[in-house]
Amino acid sequence: MKPANTLLSNIGTTIFTVMSALAVQHKAINLGQGFPDVEGPPDVVQAAADALLDHRNQYPPMTGLPELRAAVAAANKRFYGLNIDPNGGVVVTSGATEALAASLTALINPGDEVVVIEPLYDTYLPVIKLLGGIPKLVRVNPPGWVLPRAELAAAFSPNTKLLLLNSPMNPCGKVFTADELRFIAGLLEQHDAYAVCDEVYEHLVFAPAKHIPLMTLPGMAERCLRIGSAGKTFSLTGWKIGYVSGPNALVSLVAKAHQNFTFTSAPNLQRAVAVGLNKDDDYFTSLGSKLAAKRDLLSAGLQELGFEVLPSDGSYFVTADFAPLGFSGDDMEFCRAITEQAGVAAIPLSAFYDGHAPRHFVRFAFCKQDSVLQEALARLKAWVAPAQRLTATA
Ligand code: PMP
Ligand code: GLN
Repeated sequence: MKPANTLLSNIGTTIFTVMSALAVQHKAINLGQGFPDVEGPPDVVQAAADALLDHRNQYPPMTGLPELRAAVAAANKRFYGLNIDPNGGVVVTSGATEALAASLTALINPGDEVVVIEPLYDTYLPVIKLLGGIPKLVRVNPPGWVLPRAELAAAFSPNTKLLLLNSPMNPCGKVFTADELRFIAGLLEQHDAYAVCDEVYEHLVFAPAKHIPLMTLPGMAERCLRIGSAGKTFSLTGWKIGYVSGPNALVSLVAKAHQNFTFTSAPNLQRAVAVGLNKDDDYFTSLGSKLAAKRDLLSAGLQELGFEVLPSDGSYFVTADFAPLGFSGDDMEFCRAITEQAGVAAIPLSAFYDGHAPRHFVRFAFCKQDSVLQEALARLKAWVAPAQRLTATA
C-alpha cells in the first residue's frame, strides 16, 4: 500500500495524552496536562445549560454567534484598547487549537518561512509543516528565558511570512516585555511579516508582569492575528471555544480556513462564553492573583525538595530543574518515575523542543486546588527522600 501522510505517521501521540493516560493508570495526581480541577464560573456554566433548552441548537453563523463576536470585540477594547470589528474582525473557533491551524492556514503558502520560539507548544510545528511552511527556530533558554535578539533577527529573511508568538508562554511561563515586543515589531515591519499571536493565557498573568498584546504596538494592528481561548479564561478547558481577532482583510481568510475545518462550534457554549467575556473586571483580575498564590505554593514546595524552580510570570505552569536531586535518567524517565513511583505526573520539557533539548527540566501544572498541590508535594517528598539518601551514599 502507498504510505499515507508521512508527516503524520512520523509523529507520535501528544505528550499530554501520554502522560494523562499514565497518570490514570497509576492513580497519580495529574500535574501534567494543563487543566484546572475546579469548574469555571457557575453563571457561565448555567448560561450554557439554559441555552441548550431554548431552541437555538441548529448551526450558528459560520464566523460565530453575533453576541459572542460582539463580546470578543468588546473585550479587545476593554482590556487593550483595540478596535476590532465584531462583524468582520472576529472568528469563533473550536478552541485555540483550531484558531491556530486556521490562522496559519490563512497566511502560509508552501515554502514560506515561519519564525517560532522554542520551547514551543506541541501543535505548532506539525501544522506549519503540513502547510508546507519552513520553521525557523529560535530558543529562549533557562533559567531566565531571555529573548536572544541577534538570533531572532538572524532567523528573519526575505522569505519570512510570519512569526508565531506565544505570550504568556507555554511551557516556561515567560511573558514578553514591552521592550522585547518593540524589538519584535521592528523586525516584522522591516521584513514585511505577519504575527500569529497565541495569547490563550492572556488573563493568567502574575503581577508585576503584565500582558501586552503585540497587536497594540504601533503598526502592528494590520499585521497580527490574536488568539484567545475560553477554555483558559473560564477554566473550562473541555469546551474548546477559541477566538481569533484581527484586521478584516486577514480575518476573512481565517474564516475561509475555518469554514473548511469545522465551520462552526456548539451554539450553547458560544452563548455562555459571551456571558463570560462580559463579566466584571474583578473576575479577570482575580484569575491571575489566585493562580499566582498556587504558583508560589508549588514553587516553594518543589524548591524545598531540592528542585531548582524557574520563574513563571504567567500560564498554568512552572518549570523545575531536577538535576540537583541527583536523578540519573532524562526528563521522560523522570516523569515516568514520579508518575509510577511517587504518584505525581508532570510533563518532560523536551516535548516542547524540535530536538537537542535540555533533558533535566519538567513542567508542573499548578492550576489545582491547594490541597491537591499539598498532597502532590507530600508524595514527592516521600519519593525524593530515599532517592537522595541513595545518591548521598553512592
Ligand atoms: N496554545 C497554547 C499555548 C496552549 O497551551 C493551548 C492548550 N490549551 C492551546 C493553544 C490550545 O487551546 P484550546 O484548548 O483552546 O484549543
Ligand atoms: N495546553 C495543554 C497543556 O499544555 C494541553 C492541551 C491538550 O492536551 N491538547 O497542558
